[in-house]
Amino acid sequence: MIEKMITEKREWILEKLEVARRDGALRRLESAPKRTKKQVAEDKNRALEIIRSRIAHFNLVYRLSWKRIAIRNQRTRWGSCSKRGNLNFNYKIALLPPYLADYIIVHELCHLAQMNHSKKFWDLVAQTIPDWKERRKEIRTYEVGN
Ligand SMILES: [Zn+2]
Repeated sequence: MIEKMITEKREWILEKLEVARRDGALRRLESAPKRTKKQVAEDKNRALEIIRSRIAHFNLVYRLSWKRIAIRNQRTRWGSCSKRGNLNFNYKIALLPPYLADYIIVHELCHLAQMNHSKKFWDLVAQTIPDWKERRKEIRTYEVGN
């Protein structure tokens, strides 16, 4: 009977575990003391530095070109790529573990070649981030807002 109950409740339990895991991860980013305006300005500079150097690194493989890289205080996204070839990134990339920042950077970079999330797009991402699925999952446990 217990086994039956566990089976039935499995979905519910897994969902609760996922929520708990997410809350824990959120705290990781939010537990940082409130950042002053000066610190945010520094984060933005650091984000731009990280992005420029990582794009230069990954673009040795992709050899793509873009118009401009901008750091934005986007509330709902980590990055975006416009049809005109402009790359935008959230300054909070500077606060992420580097392997997750890399995933975001490569993701947007690959949109310059594929403006979609097709298999072709993910194959391109996989050329430099073979474990993109895991990183993509993990990035979702971080809050972009605030
Ligand atoms: Zn995308």
